[in-house]
Amino acid sequence: MTIDDSLHLQATDALSSYWQMACEFFPRLHKYSAPQLGFHLRGTAAGMAYLNEHRIALNLVLLKENTVAVLNDVVGHEVAHLCAYYVYGSRIKPHGAEWKHVMGLFGLPARARHSFDVSNTQRRKVWRHAYACNCTGKVFWLGAQRHSRIAKGHVYKCLKCHTSLHSMNQKTNEALPQRSIRSA
Ligand SMILES: [Zn+2]
Ligand SMILES: [Zn+2]
Repeated sequence: MTIDDSLHLQATDALSSYWQMACEFFPRLHKYSAPQLGFHLRGTAAGMAYLNEHRIALNLVLLKENTVAVLNDVVGHEVAHLCAYYVYGSRIKPHGAEWKHVMGLFGLPARARHSFDVSNTQRRKVWRHAYACNCTGKVFWLGAQRHSRIAKGHVYKCLKCHTSLHSMNQKTNEALPQRSIRSA
């Protein structure tokens, strides 16, 4: 997934205005330029502040789906982590009184967690298709690639009974171990 120029610019703007605000509240921050901004955060977190690296990362999926909220709340939330770190040191709690104080200065609610819908941030489910040979009770769970090769006429055989695998017309997206098969 890539970020287009206009969204990139909006995010950079949001970050610099929070950083500017931070510098006004805490003049000692003037010696730092605005933090680096990245968009490669995976999983369900909306943002992350890397305290020692002067860097913030956003989750691009959530940024695209909740642009206004991420630019206001999440960017502010992460900048507040950097501020609290620079002003109060590294021994404070991540969402403790110092961070809450900075959030208050930013005019943001001091919520530790977001409530965005995260269903599109999860890893895509992998489907496996059930195949059988002549061995009793044996099931081969084949991935999409082998499944489509079979549909195109490719033959896979059981290593034990040497018969061709045939579809059982069942599929699952549960994680399953794969059995060894021989391509023929
Ligand atoms: Zn946080
Ligand atoms: Zn077999």
